[in-house]
Amino acid sequence: MNRLPAWLTGEKAYDDIAPLIVRDSSFSLEFLAAEAKAITLRRFGRTMSLYAPLYLSNFCSSGCAYCGYASDRTTLRRRLELEEVKQELGTMKAMGINDVLLLTGERSSSVDFDYLRRCVDIAASMMPKVSVEAFPMSVHEYRKLADCGCTGLTIYQETYDPEQYYHLHRWGPKQNFLDRLETPERALQAGIKTVGIGALLGLSEPIEEALKLFSHVRHLGQTYWKAGLSVSFPRIRPQTGGFQPAFPVTDHFLARMIFAFRIGLPDVELVLSTRESPSFRDGMAGLAITRMSVASRTTVGGYIESDSDEKGQFEVYDDRSAEKFCMALQAKNIEPVFKNWEPVYNGPSTELKPGKEKC
Ligand code: SF4
Repeated sequence: MNRLPAWLTGEKAYDDIAPLIVRDSSFSLEFLAAEAKAITLRRFGRTMSLYAPLYLSNFCSSGCAYCGYASDRTTLRRRLELEEVKQELGTMKAMGINDVLLLTGERSSSVDFDYLRRCVDIAASMMPKVSVEAFPMSVHEYRKLADCGCTGLTIYQETYDPEQYYHLHRWGPKQNFLDRLETPERALQAGIKTVGIGALLGLSEPIEEALKLFSHVRHLGQTYWKAGLSVSFPRIRPQTGGFQPAFPVTDHFLARMIFAFRIGLPDVELVLSTRESPSFRDGMAGLAITRMSVASRTTVGGYIESDSDEKGQFEVYDDRSAEKFCMALQAKNIEPVFKNWEPVYNGPSTELKPGKEKC
């Protein structure tokens, strides 16, 4: 493996939050919650921005030990055809969703860059905000996606421990630790406006993971100061394959980590998905989290075939409808925000030029 970047191996960036999350921290959870709540209120107000994932395909050539879509799992493989993509998006729109995250597995002959680009093009014609969570791409490819109306990338490093990373990514292109680590920067260099990163909590020692994740987002913020950054806190959920986390993360530690990130990164969007329980999500809303997924399906075609008993990439924990979830937010005096982005903000790169295809 090539040399790890200095920001990952250096000690300095840890200084801000290490005292807040170490095991013998002198800061109580209540104190951190109160600090985080005050910062969140000042910077974001009483709002929660909402999005939903759309699984385009479950084809994958990689062997991530923790994933229900790893290539050795016996699951029905399919991809949405373009007409089906439109139908899924239409169903999501009818649920009130205006901010979509398009997901695929690793690049394959069934799901390649051209397919993803077409899906982004369709989504951008129907939704004001489109992001992708897919295979790592080149700067040139991210630029093309930006031209099609993609404004966001989500890419988790999964674990920042290179040895554990190699062990868990048993085969396939995702084995390349450094390539994945450098992917957010390629997207930002290409003009993608927002990047979301995270570690899959449970894969490695959680305090180390939190510190390295913090260093990563701080490095991105310092290098790409115009970028919109977000951090997610996914914990491993039951999935086909039955992978059990070696380092389970408790609610208590996760709450401490989220509060510490809010205090250390006041302007960064903090994201909590439907992997978490309704009670944990409701508890975190208004304290530090500012963005949540809602009414998520983790199966391919899951919005139209909502009564399918097919197992998705992982089991969703909070399966409340968008309506029910919004009522829970409103009961806490938090305004659900389905749309806070107009496509016109996407800038000149998405404007149609005479004689040139949009993307
Ligand atoms: S996590 Fe992604 S790359 Fe890994 S096996 Fe699952 S779908 Fe494939």
